[in-house]
Amino acid sequence: MITSQTSFIALIGNPVTHSLSPIMQNAALEYLGLDIIYIAIPCRDEDLRLVIKSLKKINCKGLNITIPYKQKVFNLCDEVTPVAKKLTAINTLKLNSDQEWSGTNTDVEGFIYPLKTLNLSRKEAIVLGCGGAARSVIQGLINLNFSKVTIISRNKKSLNELMKNFANQSEVKGLLNSDDQINNLIEETDLIVNTTPVGMKTESNSENNLLPYGENFWKSLNSKTIVYDLIYNPAPTALLKYCDKKGCRTIDGKQMLIAQGLKSLSFWTNGLEVPFEIMANALKKYI
Ligand code: NAP
Repeated sequence: MITSQTSFIALIGNPVTHSLSPIMQNAALEYLGLDIIYIAIPCRDEDLRLVIKSLKKINCKGLNITIPYKQKVFNLCDEVTPVAKKLTAINTLKLNSDQEWSGTNTDVEGFIYPLKTLNLSRKEAIVLGCGGAARSVIQGLINLNFSKVTIISRNKKSLNELMKNFANQSEVKGLLNSDDQINNLIEETDLIVNTTPVGMKTESNSENNLLPYGENFWKSLNSKTIVYDLIYNPAPTALLKYCDKKGCRTIDGKQMLIAQGLKSLSFWTNGLEVPFEIMANALKKYI
């Protein structure tokens, strides 16, 4: 029951209506018996600084950050963990002992979760998009010992920014989606990860049947390639349905959602753990 003692954790992003974090986090908070609720707060770009600063003055126990603010929030934290510092992308904040925001990134561990049981050492990967989640994906692929990671972006400026985070990593290369090498790369790669929001369900988006960079981009894909789409709503996306028809192994964003959520909850509660199934069962009715 919500009382005058109840505090809250919030998800900040735009849009947030697609998010299933409130469902799974509230189930986990209830399991732990904590008097905390989890809510989603849509926030406009021009209000982000004010909202993040204000939330630390009220009874807010922590934050999750989603699209498109994972990088912008980096500069609004007073301290960050080493992984967040390397990626300059934050998805989880809590108040430190000085009541200031301490930021971390749990997406790296979340992303790796469904890949852990596959033997991917020295394999090659392509990452589509170069926003906040892409940084975690690239770090995850480095941690899994991939020999080559090619980032494909529509935007030269954001690609150059992202490459700065991995300046010392010779296995990481960046390309624009108009590059001639792309057909060959798609044909030969072992894993493709979509980190663009193309295909995501939102209130205003009736075009979630689109494929990232258009259908032509995918024509050389063959069945040996694993395709991982970070999107979990809908699951599968139009991309994963297309790749499934081509015979590829596909992975949607559900396991990553839960695995990063468990890590965030542990960060907010200084180490409390919840079984994976508690969050997974809560989501069953929704995806
Ligand atoms: P973000 O920081 O806004 O980055 C999005 C990236 O996609 C940017 O590089 C952007 O390019 C690119 N992009 C946007 N629209 C595009 C289009 N129509 N065609 C090609 N590229 C496009 O967002 P994010 O935080 O990285 O999140 C990205 C997606 O991953 C979202 O759908 C999110 O829900 C999902 N995600 C899932 C999980 C999970 O737990 N399963 C975790 C994190 C993220 P520009 O640079 O040109 O803007």
